[in-house]
Amino acid sequence: MRYVDEYRDARSARQYAAAIKRIVARPWTIMEICGGQTHTIVRYGLDELLPDGLRLVHGPGCPVCVTPVESIEKALQIAARPDVIFCSFGDMLRVPGLNRDLLSVKATGGDVRIVYSPLDALQIARDNPDRQVVFFAVGFETTAPANAMAVFQARRDGIGNFSMLVSHVLVPPAIETILGSPNNQVQGFLAAGHVCTVMGYTEYEPIANRYHVPIVVTGFEPLDILQGITMCVTQLEQGRAEVENQYARSVTREGNRPAQELIREVFAVTPRRWRGIGEIPSSGLRLAERYADFDAENRFGLADRHLDESPDCQSGLVLQGLLKPPECGAFGTRCTPEHPLGATMVSSEGACAAYHRYRPDKPVAMAPTVKGEPG
Ligand code: SF4
Repeated sequence: MRYVDEYRDARSARQYAAAIKRIVARPWTIMEICGGQTHTIVRYGLDELLPDGLRLVHGPGCPVCVTPVESIEKALQIAARPDVIFCSFGDMLRVPGLNRDLLSVKATGGDVRIVYSPLDALQIARDNPDRQVVFFAVGFETTAPANAMAVFQARRDGIGNFSMLVSHVLVPPAIETILGSPNNQVQGFLAAGHVCTVMGYTEYEPIANRYHVPIVVTGFEPLDILQGITMCVTQLEQGRAEVENQYARSVTREGNRPAQELIREVFAVTPRRWRGIGEIPSSGLRLAERYADFDAENRFGLADRHLDESPDCQSGLVLQGLLKPPECGAFGTRCTPEHPLGATMVSSEGACAAYHRYRPDKPVAMAPTVKGEPG
């Protein structure tokens, strides 16, 4: 296939759905990791094509959704300073901290700017040598190479007024946390194709072995996802637990080696709190010691502090596949995209936003009776 429309062909989708029905003999629960995959599933109704008992649950792969409230609060403190130009991807501007967001800081005079690349923020620093320019670096392994490049270039070119507030997260430790939970219901994963384009998939092989769970690296178009599901349920029905690659047009087993080297040069692995989930060991990236001068937390003297989430929001359960958004009591009433209680409703990749956009009035199918083991 050469054109994106071909990956959205309804006839081919129905053929995949029929093949899945023929393969599936028992109930299974599969998690798609990435919020982009969640949106495709909900938008095109792919879950409604699947046989009864084959359940898709949505994972933690929305970077905006899992950025902890502590990081948002640090961003708000920095952005409110009169000497700072605070640069961020647009998605982050409406993510609520404890009682405000970046958009409200901007509305009250903060110089908050939307950029499309960290290199744009670096250029703003070059153009404004009398101001401090801070880039809010969030996201998974996908965005880490570009962020690493910005810091690398800032040091190389001696751009002393540039710094980065880093809140990167890593996918494999999150998968292990889900699988290690006593409440886990997930029996197979669709891994995020763009993350694996950078990182490859060797990191997933020990996880598939240790937890005996199939992991299929999967793309983002409807036929990608249906093919990924087909590969995953085939493994489940055959009792196999391997890492397979549906997204071979973009992903190799080794991934993008130069990008990985750049990540290792600039960042170091660190424990990270995930919004709604809590701290996961070795699940984040921070700036390495040799780049500490470019760390906005050091530059502005921000201390770590633990902050509690709003008790009204159940996004932690949504992000672990334990709750579908319409099962949350606030969905569509006290929590809407205009007045979000949690980040999964704010982000364009959030599962709650996906259901609200594409299925605002539709009741969700409840979980099958099976839990953990096939019936
Ligand atoms: S619907 Fe709103 S309150 Fe409920 S889990 Fe989603 S973001 Fe949180």
